[in-house]
Amino acid sequence: MTANLRLRFAFLAAVLVATPALTPAAVAGQAAGGARSPAARPSASASQAATSPAASPAASPAAAPGAKRRQHTVIVDAGHGGVDRGMTGMTSARRPVYEKDITLSIARLLAARLEAAGVRVVMTRTADTLIGLYDRGPIANAADGDAFISIHVNAANPNWKDPSAARGFETYFLAEARTEDERRVAEMENASVQYDTGPRAPRNDDALGFMLSDMLQNEHLRESSDLASTIQQGLRAVHPGPSRGVKQGNLVVLVKAFMPSVLVEVGFGSNRSEADWIASASGQAQLADSIARSTLDYLARYDRRVTGGSSGK
Ligand SMILES: [Zn+2]
Repeated sequence: MTANLRLRFAFLAAVLVATPALTPAAVAGQAAGGARSPAARPSASASQAATSPAASPAASPAAAPGAKRRQHTVIVDAGHGGVDRGMTGMTSARRPVYEKDITLSIARLLAARLEAAGVRVVMTRTADTLIGLYDRGPIANAADGDAFISIHVNAANPNWKDPSAARGFETYFLAEARTEDERRVAEMENASVQYDTGPRAPRNDDALGFMLSDMLQNEHLRESSDLASTIQQGLRAVHPGPSRGVKQGNLVVLVKAFMPSVLVEVGFGSNRSEADWIASASGQAQLADSIARSTLDYLARYDRRVTGGSSGK
């Protein structure tokens, strides 16, 4: 597709899928390949989005004169929340743990690590509240994110031979699922759509809007895959479970985020020793550290690519 045609599609998509929080200019800017001027950046993020306190102007190195690189924005998405608990796991002490709590703890730590490195962070939620699956991408777009990272906890299929034995971590990007296992995770995570009741909740007649969103996200396929590989590779060094690899699936939460986007399944809550680790302070700190490091590596590499190997502007 030529750049011109892409822009025309982007404009069409903006008209069709635009929401109050998503201006056509923002969509066109994303589709044009990330050459966004600071002026195009919305001054405030979406109403539901929360920029954490540490991301004050004083903590914005890129705003300082002589800063080498522009400041990056990363959207940190804690899966589930509120009435949507996500999966329920069990620790070896037989304490039930909920996915929504584990994802929020890790997301908070991840946000803090990224902010400490000078990244602007927007979290889709900072408390135990329900944010619709279809509202998360628009929050990311309104904040003009450079990357979207969704944190989730895996659950074994009860029909497996030995479901409680399944463990390990995997990182997804948006593309057609290729295996039964990828379809299982996409179905499991997309089930949260049942809690979406807002104006952006999917309608049966929204096939065109969905297709255009998919096309806009497609622009970022290679970057999303690169980000997923980097995160997956980094986790191998800290995670006690096996690497299940980089995976792909039709994940609704990633469809509407028009930027490099991944979903990390940090471990199986259905395995007791893995539930122990992902619910522990030390496990969560190691997960957040690793994902933050990988995200920073990815962003640095992205900068080098777009500046053609120079040290940045
Ligand atoms: Zn989940």
